[in-house]
Order: sequence, then C-alpha cells, then structure tokens
Amino acid sequence: MSFYNNRRKEPLPSENVDTWECPEEDCNGWMRKDFAAETPPPCPFCGAQMISGTRYIPPLKNTSLHKD
Ligand SMILES: [Zn+2]
Repeated sequence: MSFYNNRRKEPLPSENVDTWECPEEDCNGWMRKDFAAETPPPCPFCGAQMISGTRYIPPLKNTSLHKD
C-alpha cells in the first residue's frame, strides 16, 4: 500500500497565473494571458486598457493547451 493512497482527495492547488487586470476600481474585469493577446487588450466590460498582473487561482480543469 502506498502512503499516498491514504491521502484525501483535495482540490487542485492554486497557482500564480499571468493575467490582464482592468484598472478601473468599479470593474472586476480580468482575463488569463493564456487566452488573450500579448498586448494589453481592452477590458471586455468597460473598455479600459488592461494592465499586467497576476492572480493566485485554481488551474482550469478543461485546459489541455499546455503541458509540463
Ligand atoms: Zn473593466
């Protein structure tokens, strides 16, 4: 029996991902850079030019675009 088999199933650990963040305080718009152009895109909600940032979020389950 492997020791690791006794571990409870846990959610996937969050990871730091590069994001585009909306600079408007009233707007929560953001997107993963993985899914955006390399240049700052306009916020899809308010149209402001987004700024580079990072977020600590769970990895997407349905992404198979990149593998380690
Ligand atoms: Zn916005």
